[in-house]
This record gives sequence, C-alpha cells and structure tokens, in this order.
Amino acid sequence: MENVPSPVKISDSEWEVMRVVWTLGQTTAQEITQVLADSMGWKPATIKTLLGRLVKKEVVWTEQEGKKFIYHPAVSEMETVRSATENLFSHICAKRIGETIADLVEEATLTQADIDSIMAQLRQKQPVETIECNCIPGQCECKQHE
Ligand SMILES: [Zn+2]
Repeated sequence: MENVPSPVKISDSEWEVMRVVWTLGQTTAQEITQVLADSMGWKPATIKTLLGRLVKKEVVWTEQEGKKFIYHPAVSEMETVRSATENLFSHICAKRIGETIADLVEEATLTQADIDSIMAQLRQKQPVETIECNCIPGQCECKQHE
C-alpha cells in the first residue's frame, strides 16, 4: 500500500507558531515567544501549549539540549499549505473547483511574475471533457434532481 501522509490539520494559532518554526528552522519556546508574544498577545504558557499540540500532531519534533527543548519542523511549509488547500477543496463539489480557482485569482494581489507563472500553468493544463460530481446527494445542487 502506498504511504500517503495523512492531511496535516492545524489551527490558526498553530499556524502562527509554525510560521516561526519554518522561518527559523530550529527554535526554542523562548524564541517563538519573542517573535509572537507582543503581536498575538500570548503568554509563554500559551506558546508552550501550542508547541505541545504541534509535537502531538507530528508536525514538529523536539529534542532536549540541557534544560532547553529545541523544536524542529517535521513537515515543510509548502506541503502543509498544499494539504490545507486540498482539504479546503475537498469540501466543495468537484465541478466547482474551476470557478473557485478563478475566484481566488480574481481576489488575489499578484505581480506580473505571479501572473506569468499562473498563465504558464494554464497553458500546460490538459482539460478534461467533463467532471463528475463527487458529492453526497443533497450536499450540492448537481444531484438534487436525479
Ligand atoms: Zn456536486
């Protein structure tokens, strides 16, 4: 059986901590507190709680060095962002993914380089004839009248 990593599901607060862990590569609770305590209004205990959850979710691993715990990312930022996006898309009808992406493009602030990169992806994209609705009847309008 193929080893498909289960989707990483982290809360908004945990994301804030993860962004610091990804940026620093390896870090301590004190360093994260220095970065986030003021802007988030968090106490050191809050950050330790969040780190504990992230370790439990296996998105962060930790090692003890003397009295300190060093935290390392166990998953990449790219892979976590992708997993969150796939999770979001799994909540909408497969037939509506395209219009959702078009809407995201409309809403996004983009540079010319971003636009060039999106256009390059679109030029390479092989369209399919039709997309099957993957919803439970009653969860979208596609299957309402079947
Ligand atoms: Zn559907």
